[in-house]
Amino acid sequence: MQHERLSDFSGKGFYLLFSFPLYTKIKIDTNVDTTEDTEILDYNEDDIPNILHHIHLLENKDVRYLKTLVQEEKNFFHYCPFCKRELPITYKGCELDNEPSDSTLTTYSHMFGMSEDFEEYHEYAINDSAKRYEGLIEKIFDENRVLQMNLECTSKDKHKFYVIFQLTDDNYLMKTGQYPSILDFDNSLKEYRKVLKDMDVTKELTNAEILKTHNMGVGAFLYLRRIFEKLIFEKFEQAKLENNVDEHKFNEADTKDKVKILHEKGYVPNYLAEINSFVYDILSKGVHELSEKECKLHYDTLRKAILLILEEKMKMEQSEKSKKETKNELNKIHTKM
Ligand SMILES: [Zn+2]
Repeated sequence: MQHERLSDFSGKGFYLLFSFPLYTKIKIDTNVDTTEDTEILDYNEDDIPNILHHIHLLENKDVRYLKTLVQEEKNFFHYCPFCKRELPITYKGCELDNEPSDSTLTTYSHMFGMSEDFEEYHEYAINDSAKRYEGLIEKIFDENRVLQMNLECTSKDKHKFYVIFQLTDDNYLMKTGQYPSILDFDNSLKEYRKVLKDMDVTKELTNAEILKTHNMGVGAFLYLRRIFEKLIFEKFEQAKLENNVDEHKFNEADTKDKVKILHEKGYVPNYLAEINSFVYDILSKGVHELSEKECKLHYDTLRKAILLILEEKMKMEQSEKSKKETKNELNKIHTKM
């Protein structure tokens, strides 16, 4: 999901606050928005309705969402890094003095088509919207154009969180800090903890995550690729030890064929063999050709693919181990008989 303007976060405020990367510019469009509706005034003697058309000129939806984000009291279910579980998180909302409650700037109405008057209405709306926006910014941000939002969890300990935003001179909103960190709020790796420890790739994955949360997609890709390569190398070492691989042929092969060779000998999971060609292609392409933005956009999917591979690998090894143990036990029983 791409988030390019502030209103894209509407309904996903907690994602913006706790998970969206730092130093990523989010556009606040201040152009006037319009909506239209109609009203039936009455019917003439032939039963034909007299219709009045309204054109409402409103504050931009980005500006409206900025107000909602800061002003409205919030209560949403989210993971608390201190409690280590999901529970309601609250935000008190901040009072914005003398802020107009209606975002309609003006309404132009006509019955028989728009006249030149509309231009005057439009001009008025543009000026009013600019004036309102200036006032709003002054109320929300401090003299350095910085805003801090404070939140807390609803456990008896009332854990405190905060998020810091900067409004840039060219009118973008940018998250410049948060506590606890984006990584602390990410609970999605919990189910893979055992797999990661087992493979000894926790460091690589943590680095990838840190880079991603700091808006460095290409670097994050590099660490994902390293995990992928580590897995293949580990399996090659095992195959070598068991005298089960042609070392020369393996070294000559490109990465995709390396996976193929190992899969034929039963060293890598089926899922890896299945998605091998595109995962490695995307990761390599990312490092050399894709933009930061594309890398960031695809990061979560690739991370998921790699975690699934690691999970399947662990299960495969567990199953091998248990098969071997059972066979040994059966052998013992058989000899005694
Ligand atoms: Zn808590």
